[in-house]
Amino acid sequence: MKNNRIKILLVDDDEDDYVITRELFSEITTWKAELDWTKTYDTALEVIRANDYDVYLFDYRLGPGDHTGLDLLHETITLGCKSPIIILTGQGDYQVDMEAIRKGASDYLIKGQTNSFLLEKSIRHAIERKRAEEAIRSARNYAEYLVACSLDMIIAANLNLEITEFNPSAEKMFGYCKSEVLGKSIRILFADAIESRHIIEKILKEKSFSGEINKRKKDGEIFPSFLSASILKDINDKEIGIVGILRDITERNRLIDQLRYNAFHDPLTNLPNRNLFMERLERLLERSKRDRNSAFSVLFLDLDRFKIVNDSLGHLSGDKLLISIAQKLRECMRKSDTVARFGGDEFAILLDNVDDHFNAKFVAERILEALKEPFILDGRKIVVSASIGIVLKGEFYHRPEDILRDADTVMYRAKMLGKARYAIFNIEMHDSAMNFLQLETDLRHAIERSELILYYQPIVSLRTTEIVAVESLVRWQHPQRGLILPDEFIPLAEETREIDRIGYWVIQQACAQNKRWHDMGFSNITVTVNISLLQFRRKELPEQIGTIIKNTGLPADAFELEITESTVMESKGLVLEIFKELNKMKIHLMMDDFGIGFSSINSLKHLPFSTLKIDRSLILDIDTNPDASAIVKSIIDMAHTLKIKVIAEGVETQGQLELLRSYNCDYAQGFLLYNPMSAEEITNLLRQKNKKILDTKSNITREYIPSTGQ
Ligand code: C2E
Ligand code: MG
Ligand code: MG
Repeated sequence: MKNNRIKILLVDDDEDDYVITRELFSEITTWKAELDWTKTYDTALEVIRANDYDVYLFDYRLGPGDHTGLDLLHETITLGCKSPIIILTGQGDYQVDMEAIRKGASDYLIKGQTNSFLLEKSIRHAIERKRAEEAIRSARNYAEYLVACSLDMIIAANLNLEITEFNPSAEKMFGYCKSEVLGKSIRILFADAIESRHIIEKILKEKSFSGEINKRKKDGEIFPSFLSASILKDINDKEIGIVGILRDITERNRLIDQLRYNAFHDPLTNLPNRNLFMERLERLLERSKRDRNSAFSVLFLDLDRFKIVNDSLGHLSGDKLLISIAQKLRECMRKSDTVARFGGDEFAILLDNVDDHFNAKFVAERILEALKEPFILDGRKIVVSASIGIVLKGEFYHRPEDILRDADTVMYRAKMLGKARYAIFNIEMHDSAMNFLQLETDLRHAIERSELILYYQPIVSLRTTEIVAVESLVRWQHPQRGLILPDEFIPLAEETREIDRIGYWVIQQACAQNKRWHDMGFSNITVTVNISLLQFRRKELPEQIGTIIKNTGLPADAFELEITESTVMESKGLVLEIFKELNKMKIHLMMDDFGIGFSSINSLKHLPFSTLKIDRSLILDIDTNPDASAIVKSIIDMAHTLKIKVIAEGVETQGQLELLRSYNCDYAQGFLLYNPMSAEEITNLLRQKNKKILDTKSNITREYIPSTGQ
């Protein structure tokens, strides 16, 4: 229908009828009919083939020949005509009317009883109905198209669970063709019979379902799928079946598995990583809380000197070695034990059902023994060893991290005890580890809270008996624990790198204090400061000292650095550079604790030390042991040949002092002379001595140093 015009073809062999019909059309006002008329069956077919009409009106009786309007109806539909066809019948042709409708006619009109009103209504309804049918048909086509082209599998069934739809994707995945499965039960597609019943019941009851479910292919193979299913209803809302959309999730599951594996394994050795280890440890910990008889222990293993091996072999070989070690560790364990790599050269082992000393030790020994056998890497034999810390399941653990921390602590102890061994954690270690941790935290705040104090121990000239220098010795006034000596907290400060801040503070304090003494008139006093290996290794040290000396205004030669023999030995190349810089700044250097290391005095030749301090362990028995006294004497003599002054440290007896003086030792320091004391006490001491000098002009230190040697 265009512009309110309707093209109509009337097929009627009776011209009168045509005229009447035309009359009726002319009475219609709502739209305009464009009426064509043809008489016979054959001419009608020709016209129909050549033209399109909006509506066809066929008379039932068509002469000449045997063809009726119903034959024409059939033929027209066969030709693919989609427009409505209305049959004109005679009165009382009830059978014909019904037959016409059955064969696809849109309506029938009874000749002689038809007026323009009826005709108009019949044609209008026929056109509207056709349009609606068209819409439905195209919607259905569209749906069918979607089903056919969907990448997802689409399967439908009636309420008897017989398959009614099976799209091409389903055919491809399941391996059945549609005709094979139509009418069969959808249960054949499920992997598990019980599951299938359960899910179908759920769909029928809850009207929908979505979730993962395993399906079975024609060849029996099972695949995981995601099913989204719902109830199918007809237009009257009556349930007629179920429809399901299925997606194959094999690949997705594989990816998820891969990601999960990666998250819980070490990529180099394929061993479980820390995450997985912690998860398993947590599970065992939980289990042991429920069941007191269940047992486990944790071994923490760290390779000895792996860094050296790694650096000398190169990282590729280092990696290969780690892989071989991982394999060997695996071989030493039962299947139920977990061997994990935590990264670097650290491994952790979880022994299930082992919590006694005997068995855990046995495993540790087996590992150490297995590692003794050399590894062959790129044709080279490599021997590695490991230190192992063991924690046996203890009631006092609540968190897996705590177990691991203690295993780490005790492993470290095994390393300290000489490597290639194991140690077992006990409660006392736990307490000392906790203690250590607390101290570490407190130390971070010690400077801000002004808890550090500098003590000074006088160094006395054996020739004049005067105090020529003071050694700065740091102490920590801990609010709860009282006075803590440096041997206890300096190693801790080094480990936590607090030593940099502490060291800076000490130099700053010592210089400022000595400047005050100089200003009071004691300008012959030198202050010495101990410096640790880590501090010494920092390039900025000379610059730092330079700045402090400049800011405090202390003459550079009134400051001296004490460096231990071992620091010098371990710093090697670096020492010379730093020494040169310090020398440029006129800062004196002293070698501290001399005689306990391995350096010969000869090695001092190349280093610009101005002083050497003999360690107190050598001084200790010079008055009782002739060997010791001979060594000390020769050290003093050789130092003097090199123009190096000598201090004897830890002088505690008169006998020691006398011997040292007879050996021409330059200076002495020790409890016999003075203890380390506060700055204020040193000030008083200096003042006192000065007064005595002024008063008596006599030997000022008679109370400490006997007059015999003077
Ligand atoms: P050190 O440099 O060998 O210091 C001498 C230590 O011997 C001091 O112990 C001192 O009190 C002690 N001492 C002095 N006279 C005698 C004696 O007659 N007999 C005995 N048995 N001991 C004596 P202190 O103050 O406990 O210091 C220990 C170590 O701590 C020092 O050994 C030094 O290496 C280190 N230290 C002290 N202060 C500092 C500092 O500010 N920085 C650094 N890095 N280390 C420091
Ligand atoms: Mg010292
Ligand atoms: Mg010393």
